[in-house]
Order: sequence, then structure tokens, then C-alpha cells
Amino acid sequence: MDVSCAEIKSISTIKDSVTLIRVDHSFQSFFSHPRHSHPPLDLLYIQSGLREIGFDACLIDMWVSRQSIGQVLQTVLSTHPKFAIIKAYTWCIHVSLELGRLLRKKDVITIAVGQHVNHASVLWEENATFKNNWLQAFDFSIHGAPELECPRLIKKLFFKQPGKNSSAIIYQQFSTNHIVSLSQPEHLSYPQFTDKMMKAYAFPFPVASLRGIKKWAYVQTSWGCPYGCLHCSGAVRKSFGKTHYKRNPTQVIDEIIFHIQKGAQAICFEDDALFADKRHIQALCDAMMQQHINIPWMAHARPDELDETTLKKATHCGLKLLKIGVESGAKKQIEIIGKARSGKKWIEQVRHIFPILHHLNIASIAMFMIGTPGETSEDIKRSILLAREILPDYVQVQIFTPYPDTPYYQHLPQVDRKEINRMPSYHYHRCQWSAARMSKKNVSRYQIHFYRLFYLRTNYMLQFLKKNKDLFKQRSFLTDAFKSFINKRVKEIWRTR
Ligand code: SF4
Repeated sequence: MDVSCAEIKSISTIKDSVTLIRVDHSFQSFFSHPRHSHPPLDLLYIQSGLREIGFDACLIDMWVSRQSIGQVLQTVLSTHPKFAIIKAYTWCIHVSLELGRLLRKKDVITIAVGQHVNHASVLWEENATFKNNWLQAFDFSIHGAPELECPRLIKKLFFKQPGKNSSAIIYQQFSTNHIVSLSQPEHLSYPQFTDKMMKAYAFPFPVASLRGIKKWAYVQTSWGCPYGCLHCSGAVRKSFGKTHYKRNPTQVIDEIIFHIQKGAQAICFEDDALFADKRHIQALCDAMMQQHINIPWMAHARPDELDETTLKKATHCGLKLLKIGVESGAKKQIEIIGKARSGKKWIEQVRHIFPILHHLNIASIAMFMIGTPGETSEDIKRSILLAREILPDYVQVQIFTPYPDTPYYQHLPQVDRKEINRMPSYHYHRCQWSAARMSKKNVSRYQIHFYRLFYLRTNYMLQFLKKNKDLFKQRSFLTDAFKSFINKRVKEIWRTR
């Protein structure tokens, strides 16, 4: 996706440009159904930071543009950039390495940011071939939060500012595993969402209270997450580190107003831990109410962070949807993955909070995880039963994945790490390595089974129809659903040929 290049060009004062790229698997999306594409918010903050110092900066997001690596290369080179900032995840690290290598051959300075840098920092000393490939692809790597660090680095390189050699600083941090944190979020410039972007990153699933909303903007109010889940990877979160840095609510409100003025109809808060600090979320809600901002919004939360008072307050200023990490219905699995000390209390809290959400008319997506260490089929059945009992609007079932930047991977014996590193690809949507007490095939089967047992039952369908009565009158919904079904069938037939 091209992002407001014209708008940015009109104010840029430096001739050399910067291209920001979020890499994806070209032409082989893991998903055959609609996917909630979150924007690469860190790249958008970097883009605004660069724009402030006068650079022309454009974004290519392969998540939504679905271009091949050759097409991306052509688009990038057509703007003759001096720098390319490449963000990627473990599952497409080879694409990122290839793109970086090709760009460097054309004298573009490449900077790696995002979760694949965390991945690299683990494999850096372990695997000489990987290290060599990495060095061929990237001039610099920012390990941790790139939002402020990246514009600073480019400024240093471009204006050849005196001081220590930047490369040495970054690599030193990389090899000592020092992670850059975003401790001064008040210095961030607001990201720019064009009309096209607000539509491309819209929440795609039907939710009655969000009906008709087509344009979404994304905001982050805090960085870092204070919890210590064993499966936590940069692949599934939006910020780095454990220290929770918060922005001043007044500044957040200002940014929301900025987006509303640009046409946003809803806001998605991208914090990893928006509800972790009650004072923060309550101050934010108070500030929204004082400014009479009542735009619909959604956010992520853990069940143990939620209480009725906070939720009531949040609904008064627009909360419509929560994505909640329930993870498992088996107490021991909650404790094993380090989600909570007491699995019993965690599940009691899940049972306590969902009726409150229903009562307050807050839609929910319950996120579950299967294939967790030592998990049995009985444990998965407990999760399915819990999902059916709490009746969220949607469930999402991810597969436990040992990304190299997870605490879980880092505690594994060498022999397991080696096996994981030989995997052809990995993604939380597909099982490539089983930590559970069952085969990879069975973990994948249980994922499908989970979805079927949750969605294909009368109780759920009745609830869905009741909440979404008007939806079936919309022709576009029916045609989209039909197209998606046909698409999926064609892909399945093609795969089994
Ligand atoms: S709550 Fe989420 S972001 Fe925080 S440590 Fe756990 S998995 Fe990571």
C-alpha cells in the first residue's frame, strides 16, 4: 500500500527519500478468510518522525498490498531511496533477508526493525550461516522499540553527526541483547492515516455496535507489558520490554482528535497492556469524557485486568469491543505458560467478566491457544467448553509457537532449539512443532475441531442472528461471504491436487 506519498512530498525538504516496508509472504497468505490487518504502527510513528525532520517517507505494506518481492523491489527502487527500513516477523524472515540483500546491492542503506531483529538476536551467535545472511542483508538493526530510535539513527547517518559510530552502537546493543525501550513516548509525532489506509485496516468482522464503520485509526497509549508469559513474542505484541511507559492522556486525546479530523470513525487502541494500570485507563476515559469524545473504540485486555467499574466507565466513552486473551480452560496450562500464578483464579475471573461484558453490551473476541507445553486432548476440551460457556462474539484459536524470542524457546535444550530452527516455516496459525502431548497433526486437527464446535452450534448461531438481524439484508455481506467460501474451496482443491 502506498501511503500519502504526495502529501508527505509536499512538505519534505530533504531530497533523499526513505522507504518503510512491512514484509509478508508474497502471494501465499496463511489465511483464506478475512483477516484483521493491523497497521504497522511503529513504522507509521517512524514515518511521522522522519517527516518532521524533512524526509520524504513512503510505506509499502506487503500485508495488504500482496505484492511479490520483485514488485516491491521495483516500487522501492523507483523512488531512489537512500534508506530502507524493513520490518518483518519470524515467519517471513527469509523474504526480509532477500529483500535487504537486493536493496543493499543497489546501494540502499538497510535498517532492520521489528520482531525479526529479536529473532536474529537469539540466533546471531548460534548460527554462523544465519549471521552471514543477516550481515549481507542489513546495515543496521534496531533491537527493541524503533519508533524514536530509527529517525535518530537516520538523522545521524544523513547529517554525519559526530559521536560514536552508529553501527558500532547498534551492533553492540544487538550482541549484548540490550533492548531499546520507548521511555519517552511523549516525543512521538502522530502517525498519518489516509482515507485508503483507514479502510484497509478496518476491523472486518460483523459486530452490531460497530455497524457501518468503515474508517479506523490506530493509537498507542503505552509501550511495554509488565507480565511474564512464556509464549510472549514480538510476533504477537506491539511493543518491547517489561517496563510500562505511558503517554499523557491529554496527548492521547489530542492524537484521537487529529484522527477524527482526518475522517476516522473508530479507534483501535494497540497497547499490549492498556488495562494493566487502572489509573492510566481511568485517566484516559476521564479525559475522553471531559473532551466529549465518544468515538467507538476497541482494545486488547487480559481477563484479570478487567472489573465492572472500569468497564462501565469505558463504555461511557465509546468502548465497543475487547479482544481478550483467555488462552485456556485448563488451570494447569494457564500456570505452565506463566499467564497467572493461579489457573483457578484466572478461570474464575474469565467466568466472572464475560457476563459483565454481555450486560454492558461490549462485544468480545476470546483468544485461545492450543498446543501449549504438556497439553492433552482433555485440556483442549476444557478450553472448548469454556469458550462455549462464556459465549464471546468470536473466538480465535492460535497454536502455541516457539518463536526464538520467547522465554519458552530460550529455556529449551539445545537439541530442541536446533529442531525448531530447521522448521521450514512457523506461524501461530499452523503447527510445525508440538510442545503438547500430541502430534503436530493432532494439534492442527484440534484447532479446526475447536472452531467447528464453537461456531457450528445452534446457540451461537441464534445469538449471532439476534445480534446481526440487519446484516443479512446487506447484499454485499452475502456476496463477500459467498466469494470467500468459493475462494477457500478453490484453494483447498488446488492444494490437494
Ligand atoms: S500479556 Fe500479552 S503482551 Fe503481556 S507478556 Fe503476556 S503475552 Fe506478552
